[in-house]
Formats: sequence, C-alpha cells, structure tokens
Amino acid sequence: MTPTPTPHRPRWRSLALLALLLAPLLWPLQQLAERYYRDELIEQNRQTLDLYVANLLGTLRRFEVLPAILGDLPDLRGALLQPQDAPALAKANQLLSRVREQTGADVIYLMDARGITRAASNHDQADSFIGRDFTFRPYYRAASEGRLGRFFGQGTTSGKRGYYFAAGIRDEQQRLGVLVLKVDLDYTERLWGKTPEQLLVTDANGVIILTSNPDWRFRATRPLSRQELARIAAEQPYPTLNPQPLTLDDSQWLMQSRELEETGWTVNILAPRNQLERPVQTVVAIGGASLLALLLLLGLLLQRRRHYIERIALDARAKRELEIRVLERTRDLETLNNRLKDEVLEREQAQQDLLRTQDDLVQASKLTALGTMSASISHELNQPLAAIRSYADNAGVLLDHQRHDDVRGNLRQISELTARMASIIAHLRAFARRDRHAPESVALQPALDDALALLAKRRRALDVELIRDLPAATLWVQAGETRLRQVLGNVLANALDALSERAPPRRLWLSSETSATGVNLILRDNGPGFSPQALQHAREPFFTTKTSTQGLGLGLAICETLMRALGGELLLANHPDGGALITLQLRHTEPGTNLQPPEEFS
Ligand code: ADP
Repeated sequence: MTPTPTPHRPRWRSLALLALLLAPLLWPLQQLAERYYRDELIEQNRQTLDLYVANLLGTLRRFEVLPAILGDLPDLRGALLQPQDAPALAKANQLLSRVREQTGADVIYLMDARGITRAASNHDQADSFIGRDFTFRPYYRAASEGRLGRFFGQGTTSGKRGYYFAAGIRDEQQRLGVLVLKVDLDYTERLWGKTPEQLLVTDANGVIILTSNPDWRFRATRPLSRQELARIAAEQPYPTLNPQPLTLDDSQWLMQSRELEETGWTVNILAPRNQLERPVQTVVAIGGASLLALLLLLGLLLQRRRHYIERIALDARAKRELEIRVLERTRDLETLNNRLKDEVLEREQAQQDLLRTQDDLVQASKLTALGTMSASISHELNQPLAAIRSYADNAGVLLDHQRHDDVRGNLRQISELTARMASIIAHLRAFARRDRHAPESVALQPALDDALALLAKRRRALDVELIRDLPAATLWVQAGETRLRQVLGNVLANALDALSERAPPRRLWLSSETSATGVNLILRDNGPGFSPQALQHAREPFFTTKTSTQGLGLGLAICETLMRALGGELLLANHPDGGALITLQLRHTEPGTNLQPPEEFS
C-alpha cells in the first residue's frame, strides 16, 4: 500500500504572517529616513536663513550710518537754521531727493527741533512729509537724545513698512533737528518670492512684521503684555493697535530662527513638515517593496525547495514501489517457474507412463493379435505337422518295402514342410519381438539396391523392366537398415508375384517424392493390382490371395508394423492405369553414416 501524499498547504499564508511580523521593521526605517531628510531640510533651511539674514542685515547696515553723515551736510543744517528761507529749504529738498535716488532709500526727511518735517525727499509728492509731525515715533526721541534712532513701522502716510534710522543734528550750542531715513522693507519682503518655506520676521513684541505669508502679517506670535500694547498704541508701528494672535503649530512646521541683536528681531524660516512626507514615504515604500520582494523570493525559494524535496521523496517512493513490484514479480515468476518445473516433471512422468502404456498396449495388441492368430497358426502348423507325420509314417512303411526313392521323396516333402514351418515361425517372431532399436539415418537408394539385388534372379526370369526415377543424391530417411530392407524386400516380392500373374510386358516403376518432413518411396507395377477385398484386408495377418504354397499372408502385415515403428506409413492403392501403387512414407533425417551392425532379423 502506498501512503497517500499529504495535501499541499499554502505557505503563502505563513509568508503573509511573516510579512506582518516584519512590517514593524519599516518603522525604524521611517524614523531614519525622517531624521535624514529633516537634517537635510534643516541644513538647507539654515543656509537659506543665513542668506536672508545676511541680505536683511546688509540692507539695513547699508543705511545705518547714512543719517549721521547726511546730518553733517551744510545744506541741511542751513535749512534748519533758517526755516523761513525758501531757497535753503528747496536746496535741502533737492539734496535729500538726490541722495534718496542714489542710495535707494525709501524716503529721507529732515525734522526741526520741534519735530516738524522741514525738508523731505518726497517734498514734491502728494503725500509729502513736509510739515508733518513725527515726534510720536520713538526714533525721534532717540535721535533727539543723541542716540541712533531705530524703528520699525508702517508708514502712516504711505502705508509702506519700513525701517527708520534717525540721527540728531546739532551745532555746538543747540539741537537743530533730526534726519530720518526710511528703508523700504516691503521690497525686501517681495524679494523673498514664493517658496514652500515660509519666512517671517518678528520684532521685539513677537509681532510678525515681515512674512512671505500675507495672512500672518502683523499678528502676534505670543501674548502681548499691557505695557507692550500701550507702547504699540503710542508708537503705532503696525496698522493695528491690537495685533491678533497667531499660533504656529510645531507639528506642522519645522522652524529655525536667528536673532538679530541690533534690531531686536527674530528671523524665522518655517518649512512645512509635510515636505518631508513624500521622500520618507518613498523610502518606506521602497523599503516595503524590497521587503516584499525579499519575502516573495524567500517564498519562491521555499516553494522550490519543497518541490525538490517532494520530488526526491516521490522518486524514492516510486523506486521503492518498483523494487517491491520487481520483488513480487520475481517471486511470482519463481513460483510459476517452480510450478512449470513440476508440470514438466509431471508431463515427463505422464509421457513416460503413456509411452509405457502405449508400449504395453502395442504389446498387448500384438499378443491379442497373436492370440487371434493362434487358431490360424495352429491350423497352419498343424497341417504341415500332420503331413510330416503322415510322410514320416509313410516313409517307414516305404522303407519296409525297400522303396527308397519314394522314401527320399517323402523326406524331401518333410524337409520342405519343415522349411515352410520355419518360415511361418520366423515371420511370427517379428510380431512377438519388442523392437528397441532407436531409429537411425539410413540411405534409401543403397537399401533399395540391396533388396533389388536379392530378387534380381527372379526379376530377370520374369523379364520385368525396371523403370527407376530416383534422385542421384542420397535420400536419408529415419529407419532401421534391416527393417527397411525387409519392408522393401516384401513389397518388391509382392510386385514380382503379381507380375508373374500376367503376360509380358512386365514393368516395375520406382520413384520418390520429397516433402518438408519426409520422403515418399513409390512402387508401381503393371500387374493385376489389388482386388477390392485385398485393398481392404491386405494389411491383416494371414490375408492372402495366393495359394498356400505361395503366400503366408504375413508380408504386408509385418511391413505395416515395421513402418509404424519407424514413424512412417504404408499406403496401398491401385494406379488409374492399372497395377498396384504402394507408397512408403518415411521420415526425412540429417545425413548420417550407419555404422550399426545390421539388425538381427533377416
Ligand atoms: P502373401 O504375399 O503371402 O499373400 P502379403 O501380406 O504379402 O501375403 O499379401 C497379401 C495379399 O495382398 C496378397 O495375397 C495379394 O492378394 C495382395 N497383394 C500384395 N501385393 C500385391 C501386388 N503387388 N499386386 C496385387 N496384389 C497384391
């Protein structure tokens, strides 16, 4: 019995489980990627921030010293000293206008000691500062006190954001006024352009004064104290007196800052954290895909390995089954062989038994025939015996009468009768004898020649023409040499007997036929042929149509027995043209030399 193969359970389920188990490995990968890209972004933003800060500081510093230098110019001082002198004021206006153009400042204006604007670079514009009072601005105060005034604020007239530098102008005795220069910060902000990163500059109050996101402008990044609000109300740096709060969510923004000490500002760069998402997601996806590919590869390898193992197991099983089948078959064959051997033995035994039985039967039938014949035999023998006794008795009487010639005649008769009796007995011996000679290869033509030679004298006396049609090559037949000669002698003698009954011409034909298995010797004479009764009974012992002195009726009976014993057959017929036609069917054998002594019987 072959074991039923276990059904294949899908390994993919376990692989999916493994994938689930391995999935958390992606988390550290995500963390690493996040850190990496964050560091990258931070570094990049740091550089951007440095650039912006440098730019802003550069812009401011470019103008920082200018008010003090301008304040020393005589034309401007002149305008302050003679406020009613129109040409002097015009000259100052011209000068400021020119300087503004050359330096790129937004506006430059000159205030007198009371804080009233006397000359301005925008003197010829509708929103000119001339005559306006800016004493509320802190820069005025600082400059009046001899310090450099600094202030961020949105222009009350222009609405533009700017950074104001102010320097006091004095002569030896008195404070003459203040020179103010406004740097346009709107322009700086515009330069920042549109980037995903947001830039914002908060002032000392934490209020956003510059930003790349207009919504955030002038919003407070931290709660403002009362003092701060009061100062805002006084100085009006923003368009609003109460800046609205703005909460920047740390989870959304990656923020980097730089303090600008000289202005009290903080420059911030805010990068949206979701900027990190895409590269990190890509890395995680690649990692996941690699993991999946690895798992698939592993799965395939495992599957191939399993298939390989299964195939080996299958092969082994098939081999084992084959071996078992071969063993079983061998056992069966051995059994069969033994049975065949037994059967062969039995057959041989049976054949031997059969042969023995056949032999016994033949013998028995011979004996039966002999028994049947015994009446005829005793009759045949009693007749000559009675005659012998009578001749002998008679001879005694004849001797008493001295009739010697008659006695001699009687003795001759007795001798002839005993010869006839001896002949009968000799023929009968052929029946009774068990012939154990194995068939041999006998050359047919020489045997025929011998038989003819024995009858040559009689044939010549009868003037029988012999017509011989036999091949030159020796025909080898299965026979016993003596028995074959005896058969041939008998049938030839019968032919001569038959021919003697007719007038010449007398003819005797001898011919042969060969077939695949045997050789047929055909004897034909032109005698009277078999009578219908003879054709039927000629093979039976003691059947004869001849007179008692001529025939015993045993010749053909003996021939038949001998032919059978040689494995051949005796066929009797009449030729259509008249005369007897006798066929001796003999078995063909390989050529041989018969070195055996002639058989006993002659
Ligand atoms: P027998 O020769 O002593 O008579 P056989 O057994 O040899 O005994 O022959 C039996 C009979 O067969 C013969 O008596 C004869 O009638 C017939 N016979 C045999 N040979 C021939 C032959 N060649 N032609 C005609 N009749 C034959």
